[in-house]
Amino acid sequence: MDVADIRNLMRKTQASILLNGFLGKRPDDLGNVVASDGVRAMMESALTARDRVGVSDFVLLENFTSEASFIENLRKRFKENLIYTYIGSVLVSVNPYKDLEIYTKNHMERYRGVNFYEVSPHIYAVGDNAYRSMRTERKDQCILISGESGAGKTEASKKILQYYAVTCPVSDQVQTVKDRLLQSNPCAGGQETLIICSAFGNAKTLRNDNSSRFGKYMDIQFDFKGAPVGGHIINYLLEKSRVVHQNHGERNFHIFYQMIEGGEEDLLRRLGLERNPQQYQYLVKGNCPKVSSINDRSEWKLVRKALTVIGFNEDDVEELLNIIASVLHLGNIQYGEAEEGNSCIASDTQIKYLARLLGVNGAVLTEALTHKKIIAKGEELMSPLNLEQASSARDALSKAVYGRTFTWLVNKINASLTYTDDSSKHYSVIGLLDIYGFEVFQHNSFEQFCINYCNEKLQQLFIELTLKSEQEEYEAEGITWEPVQYFNNKIICDLVEEKFKGIISILDEECLRPGDANDLTFLEKLEDTVGGHAHFVTHKLADTKTRKVMARDEFRLLHYAGEVNYNVNGFLDKNNDLLFRNLKEVMCMSENKILTKCFDREELSDKKRPETAATQFKASLAKLMEILMSKEPSYVRCIKPNDSKQSGRFDEVLIRHQVKYLGLMENLRVRRAGFAYRRRYEVFLQRYKSLCPDTWPSWQGKLPEGVATLVKHLGYKPEEYKMGRSKIFIRFPKTLFATEDALET
Ligand code: ATP
Ligand code: MG
Repeated sequence: MDVADIRNLMRKTQASILLNGFLGKRPDDLGNVVASDGVRAMMESALTARDRVGVSDFVLLENFTSEASFIENLRKRFKENLIYTYIGSVLVSVNPYKDLEIYTKNHMERYRGVNFYEVSPHIYAVGDNAYRSMRTERKDQCILISGESGAGKTEASKKILQYYAVTCPVSDQVQTVKDRLLQSNPCAGGQETLIICSAFGNAKTLRNDNSSRFGKYMDIQFDFKGAPVGGHIINYLLEKSRVVHQNHGERNFHIFYQMIEGGEEDLLRRLGLERNPQQYQYLVKGNCPKVSSINDRSEWKLVRKALTVIGFNEDDVEELLNIIASVLHLGNIQYGEAEEGNSCIASDTQIKYLARLLGVNGAVLTEALTHKKIIAKGEELMSPLNLEQASSARDALSKAVYGRTFTWLVNKINASLTYTDDSSKHYSVIGLLDIYGFEVFQHNSFEQFCINYCNEKLQQLFIELTLKSEQEEYEAEGITWEPVQYFNNKIICDLVEEKFKGIISILDEECLRPGDANDLTFLEKLEDTVGGHAHFVTHKLADTKTRKVMARDEFRLLHYAGEVNYNVNGFLDKNNDLLFRNLKEVMCMSENKILTKCFDREELSDKKRPETAATQFKASLAKLMEILMSKEPSYVRCIKPNDSKQSGRFDEVLIRHQVKYLGLMENLRVRRAGFAYRRRYEVFLQRYKSLCPDTWPSWQGKLPEGVATLVKHLGYKPEEYKMGRSKIFIRFPKTLFATEDALET
């Protein structure tokens, strides 16, 4: 924020700034700080307002170490529909669960080119700030959005995209990219890319009617004029298990219902589908075919249109829908019992459809769905599967088909967003990360383990990018300051990912071990290998480390944000994510062009085992960290106010939990320990020299001495600032605001 901005700021929103700037101080408390009578009067009125609406930056809380005052501030603001609050430059957002009139074009204009503290906190301010830093500092940016399910991450990323769609200049040649990536139809929610991603990757869960069941990192590329010209999406860990099973009250991915409800008669006939989701085994488990907040039929129309805008031709769409319908048919295959407990397929209705829709041989498919190919002494044998094995082989196929098609879809979208203008290869990037936050449920499994590992990595990144760089600047400037004590969670990342002795390595080892390896032997191995680790506990170790009781099939990780118990049941299977070889072979023979891309024949010739799910995830996270490390980060921390998706309900217990797992108190503590502003001496002197007769009109001595004289005259207290090699560091915004005000008088 430069001086002109501050002047602007003081003029435009003096009352609110005072409100924030002067903490809990009364006018009389100003002491030596220069302030006009007018300012004092405004402070009086601001004080009462602050009592009502809280402070817009937690940094300005008087009792900043108290979680109770943190939550009280959130509550006050939430009550006034002020859903955004800063912790320094981190934006905290509380889901209002209602439409607020704060996303209009006027609002966008208000935040355009304006600095953080000038206007009230807003997601647009974060978007704008990232955009301007990208433009002026020529540094790629990223905006990391975190929070638990239903907290508003995806909505926040949509708002940022809409903001760019409206406020950025348009490059003539690439209007289509803007359409595809940002917004083509704001009334309908716009953003064709997101429409497709959410149709195939989102589902109704108990926590969120439109829950993203995958992590997403999206790059927006801008040309040298600042116009959005391209984009790229990377998807993480789609929750494939949802394809075959949903908990009560939850649904499968939206696309299934959209197609059944919205698909034209012809289409359904061709796909062999009925217009009733309850007919499909993969859709009935949650007993929740309809959701009041969702109109599947109109969503279907949007999806169909979005596919066209993205550049899908009729063939692509047909093949895509064939696959989606096939998954439903697969789910309806009923196994019967043949001799000796072997499985057989009772009716060939589904097989007929599957053979046609997937372009495979029905008999070969039937055999692959009931047998497993074994290679013994160089000979291939078909070993029959029992009922249970056959259903799980079928489910594995459905999950693989859906999961790989989803990845194909993302690749296809990426191809359509590629910036192809050869004349200028240079572009800048703003990345948006919309990824699952910490998950702590009653029952935590492999999925939570992966998600929480991801959050540990993001915390590492936060430490690397924010805390370390902040401290490095202080060191470079040679200013003495107390290093902030923060917990470096690298030790937990290592516990999970270290080669040979990390949890993932041990899990992989158990997955590879022939013989009696199972989830419990995995747990035993963990105890043997990492039992001594300070952040690892099991039932056996619990007595010695903590006194809390644990089940025998759990391990507990002491994450940076708190402890989580993981039940090892299913870890090996989920990590193996196995698809029988003969099912792979059938898919490789498919005439469906999408499937031939998804099931590569090379996979069959490759004798090496495919990488396990955890190892793949680890590798993709390492890549993500690399991408993010090269960028300047902004953070949006989303909070869900209650579990019932209701507006106006502030559930304190739930919110306290999130404040903890988002690490907000630590965030605030670190922020308060640092300095709010830093200015180069010449800039500072130039700006404020008129306030001090000794430095005005021109200071002849050394710059630091001039600044020292100036701040002495202004009455800065020693704890309010520090002098570095080339800059002055000011601890609190209020100090600078008061000085700025003195200029005005
Ligand atoms: P998940 O991890 O399950 O994907 P999420 O954090 O992405 O959750 P969203 O889908 O963004 O959550 O938000 C859930 C719902 O909350 C939205 O569908 C919308 O109804 C409401 N919501 C979120 N943010 C806002 C907002 N800023 N204004 C109004 N409603 C909002
Ligand atoms: Mg989401």
